[in-house]
Amino acid sequence: MDRAEVTDSLRTGGRSGRRTPPAYLRSHADSKAASLASVHNDLPGFSMPNEEQANLAAETFRMLADATRVKLLWALLQGESSVTCLAELVGAGPTAVSQHLAKLRLARLVKTRREGTFVFYSAADVHVRRLLDEALYHADHADQDLPDHPDPAGEPPPHVALHA
Ligand SMILES: [Zn+2]
Repeated sequence: MDRAEVTDSLRTGGRSGRRTPPAYLRSHADSKAASLASVHNDLPGFSMPNEEQANLAAETFRMLADATRVKLLWALLQGESSVTCLAELVGAGPTAVSQHLAKLRLARLVKTRREGTFVFYSAADVHVRRLLDEALYHADHADQDLPDHPDPAGEPPPHVALHA
């Protein structure tokens, strides 16, 4: 597979009207490739993330792939906090917590507020909340073998707390 061709198709996907089928589709017979590629072209409003967007999203998942960071963010979603308090909450040392918070801040998942010599951390935005909510609620469903929500096509009902 030609890497450059795939990259190009991702980059233009959803943004321009004209799209070249990716290389893996073109490796099939031409007619087959054309019909496969046009499936998505016919979907109204279909779009693809560009390379940068996909890389940043993957980086976000990498940042979240750590149980301590999940706990830190979950706590921060409920109110701003300091390193000392967070260290106590997650049962880790202040140095380790500081390092996690610095990385989360670089990735723009948390923000800071200074008050004199104190620094208070909080979750960056509503999307961080949704990322954490969905990951934890989904984990809860898997853990407790809970059924899916009644209307799988619609928005899930808002959870106010993790499933009891
Ligand atoms: Zn649920």
